[in-house]
Amino acid sequence: MLKTLQNILCVDVEDWYHPEYVKGKVKSKIEHITLSFNKALNLIEACNVDATFVVVGEIAERHPEILEKINENQHEIAFHGYYHDPLWVMDADVLRDEVKRYDLLVRSITGEKCIGFRAPSYSLDNRTSWALDVLEEQGYIYDSSIFPLKTPLYGISGAPIIPYHPSSRDVTEQDERRRLIEFPALIYPIFGLRIPAAGGFYLRLLPLYIFDRAIRKMNKNDFPAVLTVHPWELDDDTPRLALGPVKSFVTYYNLKATKRKLKSLTSRFEFTSFRNWIDEYGFV
Ligand SMILES: [Zn+2]
Repeated sequence: MLKTLQNILCVDVEDWYHPEYVKGKVKSKIEHITLSFNKALNLIEACNVDATFVVVGEIAERHPEILEKINENQHEIAFHGYYHDPLWVMDADVLRDEVKRYDLLVRSITGEKCIGFRAPSYSLDNRTSWALDVLEEQGYIYDSSIFPLKTPLYGISGAPIIPYHPSSRDVTEQDERRRLIEFPALIYPIFGLRIPAAGGFYLRLLPLYIFDRAIRKMNKNDFPAVLTVHPWELDDDTPRLALGPVKSFVTYYNLKATKRKLKSLTSRFEFTSFRNWIDEYGFV
């Protein structure tokens, strides 16, 4: 058994029509979230790990039973934007309103404050770094929205790959006064290259040994790896649209592999929620 330091499992609770490449194409938003969420929760319970579920606000509003089930199973509820809009199309006032609105929903179910955020489409970069100030002002403890590698859709080359306190002047830099902790998406650094190992598309695309090595490397340095999956990736019946070759590949490639790969990683490494990790290990 390779179990060492606990890692963090993050489940982005969004429906099949929320991902960026599907959003622009979808004509009829027929909900599928109840089915795919139940499948995801059952799988994670079978894997016997704790997780953080970052939930899209409009889903939480329409389906409070989803928040109830997450809470009953002792997982953490965090925030994934009210409508899954990337921060690029918002401003500080819109995010602040969304955070306040979501907090009321979560408090009504758990009695506790939501303390964590994951920006849709990893949209936190130097254009949207005002979000860090909003989250801290609203009492958030952590964020996990920085993708430390530039891709066609998102990401920042040169951002730290370990937890840190990002400056809102330049999110690649540490700010000693910042209390909010940033947990960047998982990267496997090798030979001066950065290989994305965040989960999602990358978990479907790349062989498992990349994730083994990425997690071991983080744990060797006493840091947690943050792995992300989506309910629509854990559901064989997820509705699909024709998106063209590249966008279809990114969105749907190898969906059937996610369950097997998640089971394998959770059998060999320990995973917990962001909240549990911070309670256990703290962060200076
Ligand atoms: Zn998302």
